[in-house]
Order: sequence, then structure tokens, then C-alpha cells
Amino acid sequence: MRILEIREQTFSISSPIRNAYIDFSRMTLSLVAVITDQVRDGSPVVGFGFNSNGRYGQGAMIRERFGARVLEADPDSLVDPARDNLDPHRVWDTMMTNEKPGGHGERSVAVGVVDMAVWDAVAKIEGKPLFRLLAERYGRGEADPRVFVYAAGGYYYPGQDLQALQQEMRGYLDRGYTVVKQKIGGGSLAQDRDRIEASLAVLGPGQRLAVDANGRFDQDTAMEYAAALSGYDLFWYEEPVDPLDYEAQRRVAEVYPGSLATGENLFSMQDARNLLRYGGLRPDRDWLQFDCALSYGLVEYLRTLEMLTAHGWGANRCIPHGGHQLSLNIAAGLGLGGNESYPDLFQPFGGFPDGVQVQDGHLVLPEIPGIGFEAKRDLYALMAQLSA
Ligand code: MG
Repeated sequence: MRILEIREQTFSISSPIRNAYIDFSRMTLSLVAVITDQVRDGSPVVGFGFNSNGRYGQGAMIRERFGARVLEADPDSLVDPARDNLDPHRVWDTMMTNEKPGGHGERSVAVGVVDMAVWDAVAKIEGKPLFRLLAERYGRGEADPRVFVYAAGGYYYPGQDLQALQQEMRGYLDRGYTVVKQKIGGGSLAQDRDRIEASLAVLGPGQRLAVDANGRFDQDTAMEYAAALSGYDLFWYEEPVDPLDYEAQRRVAEVYPGSLATGENLFSMQDARNLLRYGGLRPDRDWLQFDCALSYGLVEYLRTLEMLTAHGWGANRCIPHGGHQLSLNIAAGLGLGGNESYPDLFQPFGGFPDGVQVQDGHLVLPEIPGIGFEAKRDLYALMAQLSA
């Protein structure tokens, strides 16, 4: 049992969109193939991984450090002998050899990409969907393949008017979503109010709209928006302030009665713990969005889940950022509250297996060994090229 090769390639996921902080016209990501010596159904088992949008490709770090360490390691040191399978925890420890603590930076993205591919391979070697493997090893034994998803859209497009925004929102409802998200903070509060009211007119009452400031606001602006947004019945108010400013987050939580959401730009269990310790978030209503594909992968995410349980939070308060199938598997296997999805963006990497439809805001994961990439034809075409 050994990993023969780790291949990596950078792909463009550019879109002509922007949020309050960045535009995505030059956005890239890394795709990784972990090629093993195992054979299932006549083909070598290959695990695939990629990072979600927002942090760019990580080729150099994967080639020079994290992938290289795995390939240089004694193959037996990466194996779980009791299961005759790769051990993602041992692979993770090997990747993080000679890495100092703290300063998580983009290193966590490179590690997360390889980690995703390792989990995909492990579940394929075991011949079962990853969500079932997770439920058996780390959950309550039983998976629930029905997962809540919301549509993340409502970006600022060049030349977009309110009618186009409403049309976009209507499109998500037509596709079965019940909750949608749009960006705020990319214009004035008055403009954002118009955009929110335009969307709510389409969506109707009952917490069907989330708004996302992408960490743009200073304290005063975040408070001004908190007051204005309190007048609407929103699903959540996301990332009002800089993701590392826990004091500012705490002050927003003190005045905003609705749900807050944050965490997509926290890249380690330790950062997540600081958020829970100091960010003033409320386990009865707020949401945690840590994205394993950006934050050291699922091995680290398991630590984060353990940490948040110890702080009085349930896994069901997590709705990860990123819209990828690994988080769908974690949601189904370990009882997260749901997952983000980007119906029209960052393709072919985001999204669901072909044929999976959203109904009443939920989807049902198919029974495919691994994470399920093989059932998404456009994505798997790229993966097959990389592993050929
Ligand atoms: Mg966000």
C-alpha cells in the first residue's frame, strides 16, 4: 500500500464578478491527484482534491513541501495497518513535519488540497461514499445523505441593475433553493438597501436571504449596517468585519439580534477557537463557515468540530464556505447544518454530482465511492486528464 505519485495543476476559475473586497477575474485553484498502487474495479485508485475559491493555486507549496514530504516518507508510515488503508492523520502529520505553529497563511490551503485527495482515495479503497465512512468512524454511525444547501450569488456584476438581480434570485428559487445569499458592502448602504429589498420582494418572508460583507466594514460601518439590517428578517449577516478582529465581531454580536455567520477566512482549529472564545458568537443562532479545503483539510476540521463541541456548539451550526463536495460529505456524515453552493460560478469545480437536484432547499447525495467527483462529468474530465 503506497502513494506512487502526487500530481498538481493550477486551473483558472475566473469570473467577471466582485464582492466588497476582491474581484474574481484572475482567480485560480490547485487540482491534485494522489495516485496509489491500489486497484479497484480494474483501475488504479486515484484520490482528487482542490481548494475552493478565494485563495488561488498553491502549486509551489504542494510540489516543494507538502507533496514532497509525503512521497519521501516511508510508505508504511502513512498506512493504518488495522484497516489496510492510507491513514489521513498520518499523512497529515507527515505533511506538517518541520512546520512551525501559528501563522497559518496559505500553507493551510496547500495542505487542505492534498488532504482532500487522500480522503477521496481512502474512501475509494474502502469502496464506500466518504460520508458513510465518516459517519462510521467519527459520527453516530448513521449518515443522513439529505443535506441543506443555499445558493450563494448576488455578486456585483458590471452593469447589473435591480431587475437582473431579481431575475438571478428567481432563478435560484426555480432550481429548488429556499435560501439565497447576496453581497453587501460593495456600494453605499442606501444601494445595498435597494438590493436587499429587491431580492426580498422576490423571495418573500421568512429568513430566505443571507447577506455577506466579506470582512469589508470597519467597526462603525458594521454597526450602522447591523442597525439597518435588523429591520429585515434575514437568514444571516455574514463577515461584517475583518475575520481576525474578534473584538469588533463581538461588538456586532452585542447589538445585532439576528443570526451572524463568519469563519471562512479562519484557517486552523486555533483560529476557530479564538473566534469562539472572543468573537461573542451565540451558539443558539449564529453560523460557523470554516472551509476545510482552505484550512488544512478534513483532519484539521475534525479537530475543529471536537473543539467547538467542547465550547458548547453543535456541528449543526456549521455551514461551510466553498460549495465543494467534500463539505457535502462532511455534512451528510457528521451532521453539519448544510453547505454553501454556487449554482453558476467557479465551474466545473463547485457543485454536485450530475443529476442531483435541489428540492425544497435540500439535496440527496448519491452512493458513489469516495467524495463523488466521478459522477460530475465536467469536473472528472479534468481529473482524468491530470491522472492519465
Ligand atoms: Mg462569504
